[in-house]
Amino acid sequence: MNFKSIPSEFEYLSWPEVKNISKDIRSTIIWPFGAVEQHGPHLPLGTDSIFVDEIICEVFKLIPSDTPIKKLPTQYIGFSPEHKGFDGTISLSSNLITLLIKEVGIQLADMGFKRLILINAHGGQISLLNTAARELRSVAPKLSIFPCFLWKGVDGLSELLTKDEIENGLHASLAETSLMMALKSKLVGDERPCEGIKMQIPKGWSLEGNAPTAWFTEDLSKSGVIGNSKGSNKELGNSLKSLLVNHWFKLIMNLMKSDWPNQYK
Ligand SMILES: [Zn+2]
Repeated sequence: MNFKSIPSEFEYLSWPEVKNISKDIRSTIIWPFGAVEQHGPHLPLGTDSIFVDEIICEVFKLIPSDTPIKKLPTQYIGFSPEHKGFDGTISLSSNLITLLIKEVGIQLADMGFKRLILINAHGGQISLLNTAARELRSVAPKLSIFPCFLWKGVDGLSELLTKDEIENGLHASLAETSLMMALKSKLVGDERPCEGIKMQIPKGWSLEGNAPTAWFTEDLSKSGVIGNSKGSNKELGNSLKSLLVNHWFKLIMNLMKSDWPNQYK
């Protein structure tokens, strides 16, 4: 007799498998979010989606297969109005994305899943996913929702990246170009633009700091890159990849060893 190994992809499960997993007090779904938006002349439109999909797939290779956590198909198209005007960018409205998260989340909660991790790699939709998570919680109060950003809170990033990249590398610059070289080098073109970082910003104001502006890429850059992509290399990309994979593996396992935040219910 053949015993099927239980896959990590939600869509590869059968309904009795889902029924069994969702009953667990720690049952968790990870739903990766990315974008289909311009990433300069040298990176593919799906850069953010490819990153989150690849990193989470690597993380799942490390998670013991009997852990009650499964991955939904990555949501490739996201909320990217700031890249309007560059061919290839496809953006859904904030209402549609909120509705999508609510409709899927309510059904997962009805099946009995206890936690939903929204892991997002597109900086332009961090606050939208935070809002959608709160809206979902208000209609599915038993479901715990974690709106996370792939690059946030990762120890060691500042040691790997230049100060310039940490401060000014907003889009398609050193980190993203290097990581794509490590993950899918055939999708990386030869251009290495450096743009959008020498603006005269009034003291105390910034693009994304304490007193930010709702910037559009066309305000800052002709190529679509915001930051410096020069010096990108595969070695740095591989280091970023291991850092991200190890970080999310640890974080997810810490969560899976507990039933937080449901223990007070
Ligand atoms: Zn990106």
